[in-house]
Amino acid sequence: MRRAGGGSNTKPRSSDVPDRFDYMALPARVLFGRGRTAEVAGEVRRLGRKRALVLSTPGHRALGERVAALLGDVAAGLCANATMHTPVEVTDDALATLRRLDADCTVAVGGGSTIGLGKALALRTGLPQVALPTTYAGSEVTTTVGETRDGVKKTQRSPQILPDVVIYDVDLTLTLPPALSATGGMNAIAHAVEAMYAKDANPMVSMMAEEAIGALARSLPRIVANTADIDARTEAQYGAWLCGMCMGSTTMGLHHKVCHVLGGAFDLPHAQTHTVVLPYVVAYNLEAAPTAMRRIAQALGSTDASVGLGALAQALPVPRSLQALGMPASGIDDAADLVMRDAYPNPRPLERATIVDMLSRAFHGSAHTTSGATH
Ligand code: NAD
Repeated sequence: MRRAGGGSNTKPRSSDVPDRFDYMALPARVLFGRGRTAEVAGEVRRLGRKRALVLSTPGHRALGERVAALLGDVAAGLCANATMHTPVEVTDDALATLRRLDADCTVAVGGGSTIGLGKALALRTGLPQVALPTTYAGSEVTTTVGETRDGVKKTQRSPQILPDVVIYDVDLTLTLPPALSATGGMNAIAHAVEAMYAKDANPMVSMMAEEAIGALARSLPRIVANTADIDARTEAQYGAWLCGMCMGSTTMGLHHKVCHVLGGAFDLPHAQTHTVVLPYVVAYNLEAAPTAMRRIAQALGSTDASVGLGALAQALPVPRSLQALGMPASGIDDAADLVMRDAYPNPRPLERATIVDMLSRAFHGSAHTTSGATH
């Protein structure tokens, strides 16, 4: 049997369809388009709800207030304390506010942190959620939430966590600075790349992944050149949505494992770490997933997936080495041990020596492979 995204198939695309796969669609209503934040009150009413609690971070309180004003008589109030990594104390406070205001749904406006708070509340209450994403993180279309208790982040998966309605309004993304747009976009691409060769890859997800990689690869350099480019922002938001769907529908592999290890062990920044590591992991997996890699390269307009990702990163204001992110050189060996432990499923078996070599290259920002492929 051929695998959907990887395997040993090297035949032309017409024969890429695997002979067996599973696909489960995640139910959500998606409204995509400029200015559609204005439809938020209608969406709350459509859910049969009357008292929406708006969620935002403290930094986006003004945006939260604007959304509460748009909700009018279906607004219950605003809770502007969403925090990175969803600490349970913050969720407990928000839950008390939700109960005090007798809210019957939440409307989260913000990035992955704010949407994470909405998901954590849904996990505890079963209340429906509307999400208005302002970044390219993609959390709004997944059934997972990572929560932090006593400094330890644990991820849970449940259908109850999936937001019921997502409003993608490009206007909400225009203030995202170039560097955050670029690393957030590369982080999104990483979800699509790993979905292509996931153990549970399937043709629907691969189709979305290829489309998503192309959309982001085309739009990110244009956004960096002009952050107010509405066409480019729209294409990036479309790509980010699809990347979120890819991550929500498949099991991530070596790349995500490496990034989780580096983030946890050395407190490296999330999206930047993904951006640096991705071409190296793709080079590692290149020969183990030829069909996926051919499609990734094609989406990038390159002949090689790793080279294409390197070239895209080169065109963006992003860090290019783990050293630049603050990882200590002495951490490479420990990181390799952690990557080998409880390994995520991956098309190429993990070989410690090669993982050490890959991490060393990513640490120095040198060529992606021994053959010297970079960009
Ligand atoms: P975030 O929400 O913390 O936003 C990152 C930064 O961007 C913050 O400083 C925020 O204030 C700022 N920001 C957000 N929108 C902005 C805008 N439009 N203009 C200017 N600044 C803006 O984080 P994120 O990058 O969106 O997401 C990362 C978090 O989400 C992590 O905690 C990650 O674990 C989680 N996440 C979860 C999933 C999932 O499926 N559960 C998926 C992706 C990410």
